[in-house]
Amino acid sequence: MSALVTIETPIKGMDCAECTEHVRRAIAGLSGVASVEVFLAAEKAVIRLDPSRVELSAIREAVAAAGYSVPETAPSGAKSQPDLGRRMDFLLAGLFVVVLLAVIVGEGLAVFASVNAAIPLPIGLIAVLAAGFPVFRNVARAARRGQIIAHTLMTLGVIAALTVGQWVTALLVVGFMRVGDYVERFATDHARRAIRDLSALAPQTARVERDGREMEMPIAAVRPGDLVIVRPGEQIPVDGEVVAGQATVDQAAITGEGLPVEAGPAAHVYAATFVRLGHLRIRAARVGPETTFGRVIRLVEEAEAQRAHVQQIADRFAAWYLPIVAGLAGLTFLLRGDPLATAAVLVVACSCSFALATPIAMVASIAAGARRGLLIKGGRYLELLARADVVLIDKTGTVTLGKPQVTDVVAAPDCRWPPDEPDMARHDPRSAVLRLAASAERYSEHPVAEAVRAAAQARRLPLADPLDFRALPGLGVQALVEGKRVTVGNRRLLDASGLTGPASPDPREGAAVSQEHEARGLQAAAFTDAVTALEREGKTLLFVAADGDLLGVIAVADTLREDAPAAVAALRDLGVRHIELLTGDHERAAATMAAALAVPYRAGLLPEDKIRIVREYQAAGHTVVMIGDGINDAPALAQADVGIAMATGGSDIAIEAAPVALMRPDWMLAPALLRMARRTMRVVKINLAFAALYNVVGLSLAALGFLPPVLAAAAQSLPDLGILGNSARLLRDRG
Ligand code: ADP
Ligand code: MG
Repeated sequence: MSALVTIETPIKGMDCAECTEHVRRAIAGLSGVASVEVFLAAEKAVIRLDPSRVELSAIREAVAAAGYSVPETAPSGAKSQPDLGRRMDFLLAGLFVVVLLAVIVGEGLAVFASVNAAIPLPIGLIAVLAAGFPVFRNVARAARRGQIIAHTLMTLGVIAALTVGQWVTALLVVGFMRVGDYVERFATDHARRAIRDLSALAPQTARVERDGREMEMPIAAVRPGDLVIVRPGEQIPVDGEVVAGQATVDQAAITGEGLPVEAGPAAHVYAATFVRLGHLRIRAARVGPETTFGRVIRLVEEAEAQRAHVQQIADRFAAWYLPIVAGLAGLTFLLRGDPLATAAVLVVACSCSFALATPIAMVASIAAGARRGLLIKGGRYLELLARADVVLIDKTGTVTLGKPQVTDVVAAPDCRWPPDEPDMARHDPRSAVLRLAASAERYSEHPVAEAVRAAAQARRLPLADPLDFRALPGLGVQALVEGKRVTVGNRRLLDASGLTGPASPDPREGAAVSQEHEARGLQAAAFTDAVTALEREGKTLLFVAADGDLLGVIAVADTLREDAPAAVAALRDLGVRHIELLTGDHERAAATMAAALAVPYRAGLLPEDKIRIVREYQAAGHTVVMIGDGINDAPALAQADVGIAMATGGSDIAIEAAPVALMRPDWMLAPALLRMARRTMRVVKINLAFAALYNVVGLSLAALGFLPPVLAAAAQSLPDLGILGNSARLLRDRG
C-alpha cells in the first residue's frame, strides 16, 4: 500500500472551457491518479496520485497527447508572463472594428466575388490551407480522439464554402476563426490577469540572518524558525512573530485595509504586508504557500471548482450546443439546398460565448474581492449571496468586539471555601473566585475565558494547571483544579450540574434561625440582588462552582462593534428580509445587543440549536447566510447556505472556517459583499442573455440566408468581446 500525495502542476494552452475537460480526462485516465481538478483561469491542475505508480513525465505526455502542455519549469509569479498593456487592447479592438467594417463594405460591393473570379481556385485553396493550418490540425487531432470541437463545425463551414468555389469566403472565415481564437484567449487571459495581479503581490525574497550573517535569499530557501529582517519600505516575506523592533505595518494585501497597524515584539505579522516605518526582526512561522497570503491565493485560484448553478446550466447547454448547431446546419441544407447558408450557420456559432459568460465574471469578482478583504471560495457562493434573504448573526466576537472584559466579581455569601487557603479566602474571596475560574479556563479559547484570564493576570494571581479539562460548547468549562472539580459557565450549566443559582432561595435558610444564620440570609439576599442587577445590565454571567458549591459569579461585558448597527441597517436596505441575532448568552445580554442592532434575537442557544434554526429557515425555502467568527460557530457556518467568517484575531481561523471570509473585522464588508455578489450575478445574466440573443439572432439570420458566411465569421467574436467588456466592470468597481 502506498500513500496518495497531492501535486500541483501548471498547464499551458487551455483557451476554452471545454479544454479543462480534455485535460482532466487525459490525466484522470492514467493509472495511479486518484483525482484531478483542472483550473482554467489559474492554468493549473491539482492531482491526487500515488507517486509509486505514476510519474510527472507520464502526466506530461498525457497532457501533450491531448494537445496541451506542462511547462518544464513552473512560471515564477507574474513577471514571466508578458501582458498586453491596456493601450494595446484598445488598439487591437480598434483594428478589429476597422477590418470588420472593411469586410462589410467589401461584401456589400461584391469585391470578394470579383477577387474570387480573378484568381484561380488552386491558389486560393493553398491560401486557405496555409492560413487555417493550426485550426485544421486541432480539428483533426480532436477528431482522432472522437471529439467534436467548435472549430470542427467551422471547418465544415469552410469546406461547404469551398464546394461552391467560394475560396475568398473560405479564406475570410478562416481568418476570422483565428481572430476569434485570439479574442477568446484574450478573454480567458483577462480573467487570469486578475489572479496574476494578486499573486504578483507575493514576496519573492527575504533577508535572513543565519550564523550571525545577513543574507538575501529566494523565498523558497527560507525555513520556519529562520530569523527574518525587514527594513522600512520593505515587504514582510513570511508569517511570523516579531522578536524585536517596532514598526507600522500596512496590511492591505491581506485585509484590504489601508490604515497601517502598529507591530512590536510578540505581534503576529503576515507575509505580503509592508513595513512602512521602523524595523522588524521576525521569527518565521510559515513560509510561501503555507502563509495566510499563500492560502488566499490558492483559494482564489481554486475558486472556480465551486461552480455556480447558472454555470452548471450553461455548461450543460454548451454540451448540447454543437449537436444543435450541426442539426440546424443539416436542416438548412436539406430545406434550402444552399451551401453558403449552411456554411454561415456552421460559422456563426461560437459555443465558447456560453462557456465564458459565467466564469469570466466570477473570476473577476473573486479576484477583485480578495484585494479588498473579501475572500470568496467559489462562484457558487456569489450566486447564493446574491439571493440571500435571511441573515443570521452570531453574537460573541461577531457583533461584539469579542474582547469581553471582566467588570465585576461577586463572591457567594457563605463562601467557606477554600479551607486550605484560609488567608486568601478571608482577605479576598473575590480574588480566590477569579483565580480558580481563570485556572479552569486556562486552555479554553472562548473570548470570555480570555477575559477571565486577563483579569486574573491583571491582579497577578498565580494560576494552577487544570487537569481533565473539558470545554462544553455553549455552556462553559469543567476541570480539576488543585483537586477540586471546578465548573465555570452560564446558568444553564449551573442548573445542569444540579446547583442552585442565587435567584432561588437558599435551602439552608429554612433551618433554625440563629443570629449567624440571619446575617447569612441577609448576605444571600444581597448576593442575589447583586447578581440580578448585573444580569439586568446585560452582562454575561459566569457562575463559578467547586465540588458542588457555588463560590461566586464573574460578570463579563463585551462592547458592541461600532459599525455593526450601520452595517445591519445597510443589509436591511439591500432588501434582506430577515436578520436575526443568535446567541448562547443569556436573555438580557442578547436583548441589549439586539436592541442596538434593531433586530430580533434568540438567546440561550446551544451550538446544535443554532444549526437547527438555520435548517428551519432553509426548510422554509430561504437562502440563509450565517455570519460568525468561525471560532465556536463553525457548525452553523457550515450548515448555512453561505457561512461568512469574520476574521477577528489574526486573519487565520476565518480563512479555513467558512466559504466566505471577511479578512478584517469590518462590518461594512458584509453589505459590500452582498452588493458585489448581486452586481456579479447581474453581469453574469447580461453575459448569458447576450450570448443567447446573439446565437438566436445569428443562427436565424444565417439559416434564412440573410447572413453571408463572411459576416457570420466576422460576427462570431462579438459575443466574446461583449462578455469581456461587460465583465471587466467587475474588476474596476469598488462600491
Ligand atoms: P455566542 O453564541 O454568544 O457566541 P457561545 O455559544 O460561544 O456564545 O457561548 C454561550 C455562553 O456559554 C456564553 O455566553 C457563556 O456564558 C458560556 N460559555 C461558553 N464557553 C464558556 C467558557 N469557556 N467559559 C465560561 N462560559 C462559557
Ligand atoms: Mg460565538
